[in-house]
Amino acid sequence: MADKNRGVVYLGPGTVEVQDIPYPEFELKEGPGVPPENVGRKLDHGAVVRIVSTNICGSDQHMVRGRTTARKGLILGHEITGEIAEVGRDVELFKVGDLVSVPFNIACGRCRNCKERNTGVCETTNPGRPGAAYGYVDMGGWPGGQANYVMTPYADWNLLKFPDKDQAMEKIRDLTMLSDIFPTGYHGCVTAGVGSGSTVYVAGAGPVGLAAAYSAHFLGAAVVIVADAIPDRLEQARSFGCETVDITQGEPEDQVEQILGRPEVDCAVDCVGFEARGHGKNAAEAPATVLNSLMRLVRAAGRIGIPGLYVTEDPGAKDEAAKHGSLSLSLGTGWAKSVSFTTGQCPVMKYHRELMMAILNDKAHIADAVNATVITLDEAPQGYKDFDKGAARKYVLNPNGLIPQAA
Ligand code: NAD
Ligand code: ZN
Ligand code: ZN
Repeated sequence: MADKNRGVVYLGPGTVEVQDIPYPEFELKEGPGVPPENVGRKLDHGAVVRIVSTNICGSDQHMVRGRTTARKGLILGHEITGEIAEVGRDVELFKVGDLVSVPFNIACGRCRNCKERNTGVCETTNPGRPGAAYGYVDMGGWPGGQANYVMTPYADWNLLKFPDKDQAMEKIRDLTMLSDIFPTGYHGCVTAGVGSGSTVYVAGAGPVGLAAAYSAHFLGAAVVIVADAIPDRLEQARSFGCETVDITQGEPEDQVEQILGRPEVDCAVDCVGFEARGHGKNAAEAPATVLNSLMRLVRAAGRIGIPGLYVTEDPGAKDEAAKHGSLSLSLGTGWAKSVSFTTGQCPVMKYHRELMMAILNDKAHIADAVNATVITLDEAPQGYKDFDKGAARKYVLNPNGLIPQAA
């Protein structure tokens, strides 16, 4: 059965390469970053997925830029959609050939957090701390899926089957966003309290920011303002009806006031994370910028959704405190206004079925909003470079040539 497998491997800051990698087995083997407690873990509940589409994410870039403690040799990729190639002995609900979306969180379905649908902080899949993911530093050591094949643990619990394969393949550029950024952007908005008539500020016009902005419209927002420093990304946000703020012009309040008549929004979403740059021309990196500015921008009693990633260890940080994840937060600003926050991995499973239904029934067109761009597996290293330079694109890898347009 074992077929040839190739995948995108992290080789150190700035370098990824497509290499031969092992075909998945029904046991987690030793590898870079696999915690000893996870080595030899039996995966009879898992399924091997032949990958149809797998996307490059800003979360991968944190590692590839050398801003985490990711180990050399890590197989990258947590945004996976594919066809089941093999099922383990204990899989009951899926069969070979099913086309599925794989949530980037790896969850067991058995622990307290999974039972409460907080699958982003599963207590058993990562011995180091709650929360596991494919191809990610400190997330349990599970091999990533920017590859031909990947092992998906606890398949019955984690996977979402597309009801009609042919129909799904026609919308694959949209459906591929269900493994992460569509639910993540949506979760950012839901936790920020976005609803009919809301005014929303989204920091960041990368794929997650654009997915959040799209979700805000989808949830009925009255005005959606997207902020970034990259002109092409702001243009992309305007392409589907967003207002924009150019953060190189200074603090966002003035521009927000020009748009809304007041320097305040109902809801705010951080789609930037710890590599945030300061506001103003040629501003340097300043990791607390977005959090501090959202506390000022959001109305009293407002909510802030924070899908943007913050780390516990950042060897590439400029100052000593930030190297260990400590930021200069002006928490008093938020406290005085009774602002609330939601952080963490998006629990994809809370949203993916509903968003799939919206896509399949032509109610949501997320691929165009994020400018989904299909490339081959061998083009992945170039994709990483272009994405790092700020291309207004969401790169979708087509490792097995199964997405027709790019085959
Ligand atoms: P990205 O790097 O493509 O986008 C980040 C954007 O933020 C860039 O365009 C950058 O120019 C912009 N930016 C920098 N400083 C800014 C500021 N002060 N104000 C406004 N914009 C600013 O990444 P992405 O793929 O869009 O992901 C965004 C964040 O979401 C990352 O931190 C990623 O790790 C995180 N993420 C989290 C989850 C989750 O489950 N919580 C899932 C996916 C991604
Ligand atoms: Zn991602
Ligand atoms: Zn669990």
